[in-house]
Amino acid sequence: MNEMNYQHAEAFALMAYQCEKCGRRERIWNSRDGVTPFITSCPREGGCGGSMQHVDWQNDRRVVGYEPQEGERFFRDGTDEEARRSVAAIVDDPEHPCPEGWTRADLIESMLEGYNPGWPKLEMVPVPVEQPPTEKE
Ligand SMILES: [Zn+2]
Repeated sequence: MNEMNYQHAEAFALMAYQCEKCGRRERIWNSRDGVTPFITSCPREGGCGGSMQHVDWQNDRRVVGYEPQEGERFFRDGTDEEARRSVAAIVDDPEHPCPEGWTRADLIESMLEGYNPGWPKLEMVPVPVEQPPTEKE
């Protein structure tokens, strides 16, 4: 494989992330030749509020064509619309009040500057919901 074909060291890499708070470990795949964040939030149910760091990066493996399993998360290119939605969710969170002198629209536009085309969006492979057995008499 010619490494020079990739623009990013983490292209198609299977990476380990670990939560600094609850210790949860997770394998996350980068589905494209694009950037990935060093830190992401912990998805633990109920929310531990911690952040997960890319760990053991020396063990990252490049697996082109990897197929994430149910419940596994992976990075893909985020769209402009998703960037706008995710920024709006942060701005509208009552825990992050709008700083004085800023309008909501200004704040959103300013935050959107951090989202370049191909920004890393985390997506999870859905876990099929088990259908409750139908009752038959
Ligand atoms: Zn956690």
